[in-house]
Parts: sequence; structure tokens; C-alpha cells
Amino acid sequence: MRPMEEGRSAAFSYIHFLGTGGARFTMISQIRATGGIWLSYDGFNFSIDPGPGALVRMKELYPHHDPATLNGLLLSHRHIDHSNDVNVLTLAMTGGGRQKNGTVILPEDAITGNEPILFRFLRSKVAHLTTWEDGKAIALPGKASVEGVRLIHHGVDCFGFVFRHPSMPTWGLVSDTRMHESLAHRFRECELLVVNVTFEKPRPEIDHLSISDVECLLDELHPRMLVLTHLGRGLSEADPRALESRLSTARTSVIMACDGMVVELSDLSLKEPAITASAKKGDDCP
Ligand SMILES: [Zn+2]
Ligand SMILES: [Zn+2]
Repeated sequence: MRPMEEGRSAAFSYIHFLGTGGARFTMISQIRATGGIWLSYDGFNFSIDPGPGALVRMKELYPHHDPATLNGLLLSHRHIDHSNDVNVLTLAMTGGGRQKNGTVILPEDAITGNEPILFRFLRSKVAHLTTWEDGKAIALPGKASVEGVRLIHHGVDCFGFVFRHPSMPTWGLVSDTRMHESLAHRFRECELLVVNVTFEKPRPEIDHLSISDVECLLDELHPRMLVLTHLGRGLSEADPRALESRLSTARTSVIMACDGMVVELSDLSLKEPAITASAKKGDDCP
């Protein structure tokens, strides 16, 4: 890994893993941090699945992030480990609710029903409030787009994403889902695949992916890099180097994400996480 460089241009594009813990018990114990991903993409900033702590992690980790510079929030589904900080970040993106600004893309059931995820008073502050549709590409600021991919996850509307940009590798995020037969096909273009993997062994009664499912995906897909994140308690304690060498193939480097890790999108290189003194011990990659 190379250290993060200072003074990069606005067009520097990268994924910053604010938190890599997933599901309820990892979240409430904070064995791994939660907070989702900060995405800087061709000069525009996005929060993806801002679970608990996203706002704090933006200020705590290096590179620091100013939530007031967010251009958009992308929410895969309504579960609290993905959505807890969506309102505070929408407030930041809209200048404390004083300026109509930004894009929020979320599933339909995150704004309908008895427990809407995005508060009503904030919706009118968002310049572009959009809901995912399976297979529909949505333009992002600049030259990028994101396509929603419908997933299967405990009866809620849930979507993965495929990001495309004319001068960068296509990359995708497989959010929480059970394995299904078209999953690999829908992410076939991705040179980088970030996959939410919760369990080591399959648990058919639970709609989350396991390491065994990742092995099945790698029989069909050959991205240059596959990053495991949203890790459950058991996987959080696994030996990352052993798991990576077991899963990696001649064509795919498998990486177990750690809190604070950065992937540069232009060349899919990894950067060491850098943390402030106030960050939790253990956040750095082994
Ligand atoms: Zn989750
Ligand atoms: Zn979920």
C-alpha cells in the first residue's frame, strides 16, 4: 500500500471506507466501525449507505471530509446500519436546511410507509430526490452515472450500484442480498467489485452473502479487485491475509477491507488508512 498523498486535485477519485462493519451485532458493538463509504468521484462527493457514525468518521479519519461539500447521498436500503446518518448528512448537504441542494437517491420504501428514513422536512431541501429503478442509469454530477441493481434482502427494497465514468474503471457495490442467479451477470462489467459479505458460511434463512457465495461469484466474475466489507462478527475476527490468499485468483485480487482504507479509482490501488489520535485503536489495516 502507498500512503495517501496530500494536495490531490479535485478530480482525484477514490472510495474511502469509513466503516466496514455490517449487520446489527457488529454495529451495536462497533467491533468494526460503521458509516459506509465516502466516494469522491471526478470532483464530486457522495456518501454511500451512511450508517451510524458516518458524520463523526468523516471528521475523524484522514482524509478528513467536510459533509457540507457533499453533492449526494446514495442509499441501498432502509436498514439502520445503512441509513442512520442520512438525515444529519442531508442537513449538512443543504447548508443546515437553508439551501436547496444536492442529490439523494434511495429506494421507494425509504420515503413511504410508516417509518420513512428521510425526514419529510428535509425532502423539500434536496434538489434532486430520486428513487432507484432496476436497470435504470441515473446521471450523477459531471460525467458519471450510477445504475441500480435490484437485490433480494428481507422484504425491503434494496439495490446494488454500478458506477460508470468514461475515463475510469467501472465499479460496483453489491449491497445486502441473498445469492441469486442473475447477480454475477448484473455486475459483469465491474473491474472493481465491493461486496457486502456478512458470514463465513452460508445461512440460507438469512438474506446476506457469505464467503461461499463470494467463491461462487468468482467462478463467473473476474474483476481486477474484489473488496469484502460489511463484515459480521465472525468475519471481523478472521485472519484477513489468510482469507485474501484463499479467495484471490490469477485474475482477481481479493481484499478484506479495513476501517479507513482507501481505493483509488483511476488505477484501483490501495492506500494505507490514516487516522487521528481520537480514532479507535485497531482501525488500521494489519
Ligand atoms: Zn446491512
Ligand atoms: Zn440490510
